[in-house]
This record gives sequence, structure tokens and C-alpha cells, in this order.
Amino acid sequence: MTTIEISPSDRVFILTGAGISAESGLPTFRGADGIWRQHRVEEVASPVAWQRDPKMVWEFYSMRRRVHEGKQPNAGHRALAQLEAQLGERMFLCTQNVDALHERGGSRRVVHMHGELFKSRCDTCSRPPFADQNTYEEEVPRCECGGRIRPHICWFGETPYELDRIFDELQRCTVLVAVGTSGLVEPAASFAAYARSSHRRVRAIYVGPEEPANRLDFERCVAGTATEVLPTLFAVRSEAARAV
Ligand code: NAD
Repeated sequence: MTTIEISPSDRVFILTGAGISAESGLPTFRGADGIWRQHRVEEVASPVAWQRDPKMVWEFYSMRRRVHEGKQPNAGHRALAQLEAQLGERMFLCTQNVDALHERGGSRRVVHMHGELFKSRCDTCSRPPFADQNTYEEEVPRCECGGRIRPHICWFGETPYELDRIFDELQRCTVLVAVGTSGLVEPAASFAAYARSSHRRVRAIYVGPEEPANRLDFERCVAGTATEVLPTLFAVRSEAARAV
């Protein structure tokens, strides 16, 4: 059994991808039953698609909202929530996932770099993103300003959210753990390399059933699924333990 020792001076950066939600019944990105095997990305998840056919875009995200409805967090999500409860602000959880399973599993501070499926925003004015569980099949909803309401999702060709904060945390972390992400989607695919590019020693570990494309950026790969590995992965040492 592999464990990662976390000392009182460690700062832990966690990056999660679609794989952590696979055992909750949500298809991954590129897996055999993956979302993008069934839809052409440029038709449903790009600014061009939104300009051309917003109704079709909403049909796709309405379908995804229905698929996510009722899905439950798994032991992997809960293990990360427990780690946050132990480490507080020494842990930074960054997810590429748009689902809400980290929050439902008890995590309080989650940075969704690719947006959130259950939020929407105006495509015209600066009104902040708002919670939205609705599905829109018939009509594209409108904002008070006259703009169209769009999913709060970072589409292909758009810039991921909160990158300044993410790169600050990458510079500060001493441990980086990536879970269930294929290492193909940038910029997340470069996070481990970036964290390790400074002179600090950063332990970088990958967790998943298969090696990611960026395997060489990690010191170690722990083979197994999120629910198999995460519940026993972290050994958090307290101040008291250090003093002994
Ligand atoms: P990906 O599909 O490219 O890779 C998934 C990875 O998870 C694979 O490497 C696979 O080996 C691994 N995996 C499969 N089952 C696993 C398990 N049980 N435990 C641990 N790992 C497992 O996904 P990605 O790298 O996250 O791709 C990024 C894009 O996918 C993001 O843009 C994200 O927004 C999007 N996405 C999100 C969701 C979601 O919110 N749940 C679902 C699908 C895709």
C-alpha cells in the first residue's frame, strides 16, 4: 500500500480529472463511452457553436445536467474532503471537472478551472455566474440586459478560470497529486512540470488505472482507481507528532 507522508510544513496541490468521477457513474472525456465519442466538440462546446446554434449547445448541456442529476460522490471525493478538513488552507483542490461531486462529498474550497455545470452566466454583461439547475430544450434563456444566458463552462478556445491563483499555488506547493486525468488537456497537463521546474523539491504523484501521457512529469504513479487508492493514500503528520 502506497502512502504519502504530509508533514506540517507541506502544502498540497490536488488536481482532479474526469477519472475521479468515473466510479460515480459519470463518463470520462475520452473513455470508450466518453462524451466526446458521441458528440463533435466543435458542434457543442465552443464559442463558434454558441454563435451558430445556441439552442443545440443548450440541448447538450441540458442533457449533461440530467445525466449528473442524482449522481453521488464516491470514496475518492470523500477522501479529498477529509484531507481538506485536516490540512485546511494548506491544501488546494483544483478540478477540471464541471460536476459538483467534490462539493457534495464535503470539499469546501474547490477551484473549477473549466467551470461548473450547474451554473450559468450572461454572454454579454458582467453579471456574475449564478446557480442554475434548469434544462433548456425549447428556448435559449435571456438575461435582463438582453444578452443570452450560457452555461458557465470553459469551452475549447476559451481561457480556463482562476489561472493566476492556480499558478501561485503551484509555486507554493511541496506535494502535487493528480488523479484521473489523461495528461492531454492543457494547461492542466503542464501543472506537474511547472511545479517541479523551480529549484524546490516537489513530490509529484499520479493516481489512476493507467499511466497518463505526461507520466515523466511524475516521480511516482500509483496504479488503481480513485476509490481504491485515495482513502488510504495520505498520512498526515501533526505538529504534536513532529515534536515527539
Ligand atoms: P480524460 O477522459 O482525458 O481522462 C480520464 C482519465 O481518468 C484517464 O487517464 C483514465 O485512465 C482515468 N480513469 C478512468 N477511470 C478512473 C478511476 N476510476 N479512477 C481514477 N482514474 C480513472 O479526462 P481529463 O483528463 O479530466 O480531461 C479533461 C476534460 O474532461 C476536462 O475538460 C473536463 O472538464 C472534462 N470532463 C469532465 C467531466 C466531469 O465533470 N465529471 C466528465 C468528462 C469530461
